[in-house]
Amino acid sequence: MTAGKRPADVELTVRCDCGFEARGTAQSIVPIIQRHGRETHNMKVTREQALAMTRPA
Ligand SMILES: [Zn+2]
Repeated sequence: MTAGKRPADVELTVRCDCGFEARGTAQSIVPIIQRHGRETHNMKVTREQALAMTRPA
């Protein structure tokens, strides 16, 4: 095993059009984005849509 980061451990950031920003690994950021979409925009966000909104941190 190398010390390299697994893809699941890569930090991602997201910035919503409304100004909302979040940061975390794919596993942690997806539910944050989904909750933001539901609570702030009344939108259902799939995992794929959430990940598509992210950028590498
Ligand atoms: Zn938003």
